[in-house]
Amino acid sequence: MSTFLELGLNEDLLTAITDLGFETPSDVQQKAIPILLNEDSDLVALAQTGTGKTAAFGFPMLQKINIDSRTTQGLILSPTRELCLQIANELKLYGKYCKGLNVTAIYGGASITEQARQVKRGAQIIVATPGRIIKYVNSKAIKLGVLKNFVIDEFDEMLKVGFLDDVHYLFTRIPGDTKVIFCSATFGEKIQHLVYHYLEDPKVFEVKKRNIGLEQYYVRCDEDKDSVVVNLLRKFKPAQCLIFVKTKAYADSLAAQLHT
Ligand code: AMP
Repeated sequence: MSTFLELGLNEDLLTAITDLGFETPSDVQQKAIPILLNEDSDLVALAQTGTGKTAAFGFPMLQKINIDSRTTQGLILSPTRELCLQIANELKLYGKYCKGLNVTAIYGGASITEQARQVKRGAQIIVATPGRIIKYVNSKAIKLGVLKNFVIDEFDEMLKVGFLDDVHYLFTRIPGDTKVIFCSATFGEKIQHLVYHYLEDPKVFEVKKRNIGLEQYYVRCDEDKDSVVVNLLRKFKPAQCLIFVKTKAYADSLAAQLHT
């Protein structure tokens, strides 16, 4: 079992890792990081959410990009905007000491103007849902001509929601030497067929369990859920946190309370 230092991560990333309190690399990180840092092969990681897969492809990506250039060097495709935002936020945390780093999230259903402004500024890493990024690629606002890493996260979910044509289109727009990483929780016949259609001789590995010591709790609260949420946040003080609620209106009202 290697430490993060032994995996070959640089000082900026190691400092962020210490800040985040990550003690040991998870299985998927042990396997993926050395390959992505030192080898040329493409990768297929069969791993669920909760295994630390974002950091597994994120750390090497952050280490390998040329931060002095504002060209798009890493593209991560995600099936939903929630996951897209989550990945972008994680990468910003992991890369907080990488001076000049710009990670931009591009997803449908949000203001085009604000995203266009961010795209114009230039981002080394873009995390996107397929439909929206294709618009920018078509209009040449985003150029993929020097892309180094292309990650297709939750590929199985991507297929379920009908994004195959979009994935296929993006493959026609990236350079031939872009390193490709497919992440998927399942590896059925159709997925295997597609993966081997795109990649010649990828390294494939499976991570069975979630092994980063995530603890799960449930709290029963019949009333005043808001103060329960506030108290939980006070107690656990998470560096970042996603809260899923039932309605847009409740999301707005809870967000307003958390701001106070
Ligand atoms: P993921 O599977 O990428 O969605 O990661 C799940 C959660 O585990 C995220 O909140 C990460 O910040 C956290 N995490 C990732 N790697 C580690 C690690 N090596 N040790 C502890 N937590 C981690």
